[in-house]
Amino acid sequence: MTWTLEEKRKYHREWMRRKRQTPEYKEWSKEYHNRPEVKARKLAQGSEWVKNHPEKKKIWRKKWWSNNPQKTKLMTYKQNARRRAQYIVGNVDIPELLDRWDGLCGICHKKVEGKYHIDHIIPLSRGGLHEQDNLQVTHPLCNWRKNNRILPNTKEVVA
Ligand SMILES: [Zn+2]
Repeated sequence: MTWTLEEKRKYHREWMRRKRQTPEYKEWSKEYHNRPEVKARKLAQGSEWVKNHPEKKKIWRKKWWSNNPQKTKLMTYKQNARRRAQYIVGNVDIPELLDRWDGLCGICHKKVEGKYHIDHIIPLSRGGLHEQDNLQVTHPLCNWRKNNRILPNTKEVVA
């Protein structure tokens, strides 16, 4: 009896499926995927794939964002900083920042728990720099309030 191509493929798929479930195969697969040349090839294939599936990349990136909140915050601050252009983008070390401020809000001086913002002590609009020494941790609400109120010295200028 001769098999059609379709039948051969089907048989092969089934054979592979069974094989993949054996402990020997699992052991081999683990070792195989850890080889440096295999890792490099997968990486290259991955970036090629990403180029061809931009919409999948978006989903993947969102997932990455929610899994790496600290890195995401850094990236956002750097992006915003670049957007506003006229100042230096320094390296920001969030763990050091939390440590330096004892995890306290720079505006109301209460403990920051859960969500936090990184705030420019001297606002960028007033010539403050985006660098470690000009940053503080704040509650999102405190930061929002600060940004929305008229600063005392602005009032003086107006009066
Ligand atoms: Zn606060």
